Amino acid sequence: MYLPFSKLIHIISAIPNVASCSIEEMAEEFIPNLIEYAEKAETKEKISERGIDFSTLPGKFILSLETCVTCSNCTSNCPTYSLSGEKAHIPGTRLRGIYRAYNQTSPIFRIFSPIIERQSLEKMIWECALCGYCSKNCPLAIKTDSIYLMLRMLMAKAAWMPESLVEFSRTIRNVHNPLGRDNRERLGWVRFRLSRNKKAIDKLGPEAAPMYFEVTVDDILKDKAETVYFIGCNASFFRALSGVPDAMVHILKAVGEDFTILGEEEWCCGYPLLLAGDILGLKEMAIHNIEAIRAKGAKKVVFTCAGCYRVFKHFYTKLLGIKLGFEVIHSTELLYSLCSQRRLNLVAPRIRVTYHDPCDIGRHDGIYLEPRIVLKLVGSDLVEMEKIEEDSFCCGGGGLLKLSNSDLSSKVSIERAKQAAETGAEFIITACPFCELSLREGAQSLKGNKLKVLDITEVVAIQTGLLPLY
Ligand code: SF4
Ligand code: SF4
Repeated sequence: MYLPFSKLIHIISAIPNVASCSIEEMAEEFIPNLIEYAEKAETKEKISERGIDFSTLPGKFILSLETCVTCSNCTSNCPTYSLSGEKAHIPGTRLRGIYRAYNQTSPIFRIFSPIIERQSLEKMIWECALCGYCSKNCPLAIKTDSIYLMLRMLMAKAAWMPESLVEFSRTIRNVHNPLGRDNRERLGWVRFRLSRNKKAIDKLGPEAAPMYFEVTVDDILKDKAETVYFIGCNASFFRALSGVPDAMVHILKAVGEDFTILGEEEWCCGYPLLLAGDILGLKEMAIHNIEAIRAKGAKKVVFTCAGCYRVFKHFYTKLLGIKLGFEVIHSTELLYSLCSQRRLNLVAPRIRVTYHDPCDIGRHDGIYLEPRIVLKLVGSDLVEMEKIEEDSFCCGGGGLLKLSNSDLSSKVSIERAKQAAETGAEFIITACPFCELSLREGAQSLKGNKLKVLDITEVVAIQTGLLPLY
């Protein structure tokens, strides 16, 4: 009688759970229910009185909760727990917390299961980088990060979340980017880079970028094109990241690609909304972006942001139940194809680099080899950190951790920058502007450190003489 309410439940549930699946695989079953649930108009009183409603979740979700044996295999490399030391950040503890919350929704289970307070559960679910390390290291194949993400959607509906995230979602829905900027300013980086490139070449001489050419808005914003380059909000608005789109448009032009950007028609991809549990916001962004891309007649879309790429590739189709009608490519895949066909020529001297795997294309998508080959093909001596590929350590920017616990996010960034500095590399290279931002913050906090942080697209443009290094 006691077995179903105790930790020993995993004896029964472990066997079928080994065949459990990730959020992408569960999405078809789960997301339509959740959209219907999210669309239900309810009064605030009703929502807060009911709390989290687990009834929309698929059976596999509950099975996974019951399976955890608290073996701690997922704990050692968890970036949040290893830097905070707080029990609430242990991946297995987070799962037990959700299971307790679930048990409290049943009159019988409530008698046997210890109570979990709302505040504790919020800490467990929102202060997570959703990096996926725990999922990859669970011997019972529990998709922990998928479970946390799904729970965020339920908690957002019940308004069990930090106020900063509520405001964050509202901003994106209102102005279509998370920075609260006027969406018409998305092209500001073009003029900024034109002027910076000119200054750098005047100072360093033309040999600093022998293949350089000027790029204006008219060159990259067209009515129709074969390829759309989807820049992403961070690289569009943060001046510190403007080197990423500048590098990508120079590369695309240098190889003669027929491409366009979307300009103010590019809206947030919706990934930050998904991470904030706002499934309806994600749907709104998805519908707009797909229509904007189709209007250009594009057959493929290139992304430099790992988060944008992941949400297009894994969530848009399943969310809307329709085919995109275009191919989705991450910059590392495109650069791999261009560099291995020798369509770009190496002109700059060798550099010593280390590579940080962004979770959204690494653990969540298995892109490990392409960026490493690209770096070698453009004259880099790659020195690896100890934690790479499936065992990579988060940059600190994942899962909206910066908004839920800024100090912890910074500690994770510093730790990753330290790991990179230990390799003796001159550059940390990554393949996502948000990782770049977090790693820069980490590197700047290291005393006496001269590490530079660049995106792989920037490295390719610099090493092939398209842009100067400054
Ligand atoms: S590795 Fe799996 S079973 Fe072990 S504590 Fe983590 S989630 Fe639970
Ligand atoms: S997803 Fe990453 S940060 Fe979150 S619990 Fe798992 S290992 Fe820790």
